[in-house]
Amino acid sequence: MPSINQALRHFDLPRLEARLLLAQVTGLSHAAMVSAAHDELSAEQWQAFSALAARRLAGEPVAYLLGAREFYGREFAVTPAVLIPRPETEHLVEATLAKVGRMRPARVVDLGTGSGIIACTLALEAPQWQVAAVDLSADALQVARGNAARLGAQVAFHHGSWLAPLPAGERFDAIVSNPPYIEQHDHHLDEGDVRFEPRMALTDENDGLDCLRAIVAAAPARLLPGGWLLLEHGYDQGAACRALLVYAGFVQVATLPDLAGNDRVTLGQLA
Ligand code: GLN
Repeated sequence: MPSINQALRHFDLPRLEARLLLAQVTGLSHAAMVSAAHDELSAEQWQAFSALAARRLAGEPVAYLLGAREFYGREFAVTPAVLIPRPETEHLVEATLAKVGRMRPARVVDLGTGSGIIACTLALEAPQWQVAAVDLSADALQVARGNAARLGAQVAFHHGSWLAPLPAGERFDAIVSNPPYIEQHDHHLDEGDVRFEPRMALTDENDGLDCLRAIVAAAPARLLPGGWLLLEHGYDQGAACRALLVYAGFVQVATLPDLAGNDRVTLGQLA
């Protein structure tokens, strides 16, 4: 059987990816793999590593092969039932903590929670908040519930469409969402990791604004006076989102850029 070093070089994979996959198979840390560089793999380890490498070479995302991705400094389980967490979404979390104020009690809901990264992170960063999360996908909710349990995040999960499954009359200090916002014919849907992600988490099968429109329309009736709506969206949807919020009666409407300088989060306050 090949040694750890030989295995790392055997497939035409970026070094970092090979290392992550081999760490997954051997259970060794990076440091341990360095000091055991010349140790021979067992037949089972070699076989398991070869299988993962082949899947990666066929395009499967590293996050799905590892079953995990880091978000806001914590590790979240991910499966092909959920979108892979993106660093841009940390801006949505930051903006929510800043606008609502993390040191005061508040009720916040995350619509289309997927793996639960937004809801769990908010619950852990703002322990006084009561956080709810909604998803249409039962499989996604199972992933999100597992993440909340593992991380010790107190989140109330609901199965259904946007605000519909929440108790009538319940009003929030903030509604946040990273909804499917990719236009149905966008070429990104056929490229890279995105090809393996759940289509319903990516696109509205229309112009990309359907879900954003639905959430903005329903939000005012479910926000407390002074409550905030915060939405993640595509780089070219800032103006459209601001218009939707202004039309729905929100004030303090603004769009925040991500680290790449692209429009990414639009927010507004209920007057
Ligand atoms: N809320 C999850 C995330 O931000 C899922 C988003 C989605 O599936 N569109 O990753």
